[in-house]
Amino acid sequence: MRNHEYCLYPAMPSGTLLRLKGAMTTRNTGKGENVNEHGASMERVVSLCKSRGFIYPSSEIYGGLSATWDYGPLGVEIKRNIQNAWWKEMVRRHENIVGLDAAIMMHPRTWEASGHVDNFSDPLVDCKKCKSRFREDTLREMWLEGNIDNAVCPECGGELTEARQFNLMFTTQLGPVEDAGSLVYLRPETAQGIFVNFKNVVNTSRVKIPFGIAQVGKAFRNEITTKNFIFRTCEFEQMEMQYFVRPGNEDAAFEEWKTKRMAWYVDKVGIKPERLRFSKHGPKELAHYAKEAFDIEYNYPFGWQELEGIHSRTDYDLKRHGQFCGRDISYLDAETNTRYIPYVVETSSGLSRSVLAALMDAYHEEKLNGRDELRTVLHLHPQIAPIKVAVFPLVKKDGLPEMARRIEKKLREDFATFYDQGGAIGRRYRRMDEIGTPFCVTVDYETMDNRSVTLRLRDSMEQIRVPIEGIADLVRGKTLLYRRF
Ligand code: ATP
Repeated sequence: MRNHEYCLYPAMPSGTLLRLKGAMTTRNTGKGENVNEHGASMERVVSLCKSRGFIYPSSEIYGGLSATWDYGPLGVEIKRNIQNAWWKEMVRRHENIVGLDAAIMMHPRTWEASGHVDNFSDPLVDCKKCKSRFREDTLREMWLEGNIDNAVCPECGGELTEARQFNLMFTTQLGPVEDAGSLVYLRPETAQGIFVNFKNVVNTSRVKIPFGIAQVGKAFRNEITTKNFIFRTCEFEQMEMQYFVRPGNEDAAFEEWKTKRMAWYVDKVGIKPERLRFSKHGPKELAHYAKEAFDIEYNYPFGWQELEGIHSRTDYDLKRHGQFCGRDISYLDAETNTRYIPYVVETSSGLSRSVLAALMDAYHEEKLNGRDELRTVLHLHPQIAPIKVAVFPLVKKDGLPEMARRIEKKLREDFATFYDQGGAIGRRYRRMDEIGTPFCVTVDYETMDNRSVTLRLRDSMEQIRVPIEGIADLVRGKTLLYRRF
């Protein structure tokens, strides 16, 4: 049962936590679709993702596979852009944070030491009639909120089994012989790859406490219920950073990272601050290793849900790995000349959940001034938009396409670009609005006379005249200074 306290961004001192409930302001269209004040709904975003090549159901030609998704040409760009923005913020901008890319399959003792073999489970109940499976804690929440009838299957009203613990780790066999010794797990979190490499990094990269190790990679969980598009899947990507501090300094580090991580979603991913909040884990909810934990939650159409976890993990993981591997993995602090096991503050963000939040937040259906026309636009931060600059010739003759091609080719060196000469110019702008392209360049007859083009801005639809040689700098400058709010 969730027992959270909530506070809105910007972070407030713990004494001023607010209790909030509910999803974003939505209206029900009568067809079971919840549409927010900007015309966004899960159904509309999913449909756009499919039709414009962001995200497809996986192995669709065979009928798809439950809760697995493939990122198409635009999806892979936005995902990579968010990942790069995270890496820049966490690794490049901090001289005391270094990167790592650990293997997905790790020695099975890792997961005994971390507690995942014994504890990484959810309470599972089955419906005796329709055989659907549910997380008992989620059902309880729905029962308490009065959303569904007590203690029966929400799908068919059938009788439910007693809850039993279901371990979420996937197993597989390593090597040609299938015996107990070849059993390995697909990692359920990237964090342990960092902990088992703690000594390697300390010995090889001259880091000094406080310092962080960051990595982005796939994690796998055999989730009991997978729904809400890419929100909860069995295969997903995490962007994690473990920050190692002197014991006693963890509370200050925890506060610092809470603030920094929340600000990242607003400033760099471009998410509306009022759709973000902190949610503090109650004592019953804290993981076995955690001293304190906050989630950053986003107000998805299906309610406030976790986007990132920030955990004060104490010295639990390093200590346990030390015990299990039988080696000394303490840290020698040259400043104080003492040895200790560092304390850890973890920031653990879901890459696919960030993609979903960015798309949901950016999706707007806007009525055009004085016209009976709606435009669908993704107000994505230019840094994460899949295509940064589209280049169009106004007409398909008189050398305009050749000139536009030359400009696009040059811009391609620095930005993700797209060339389009098909259809009316207004239609071409609309197509770019729909996928969130922040800048469109149009080559017209004036371009042939004075080497200037029209630069059209997605959000305001303003059009400005700029010299060809100035396009790249302007795009760079506007991206750097971009503020949606
Ligand atoms: P939840 O309570 O939603 O199951 P969690 O508390 O188990 O999440 P963590 O173990 O803290 O999640 O993992 C860190 C982050 O990884 C989460 O904040 C989330 O963004 C992401 N994540 C976790 N499980 C999934 C999943 N099944 N699908 C997609 N992303 C996930």
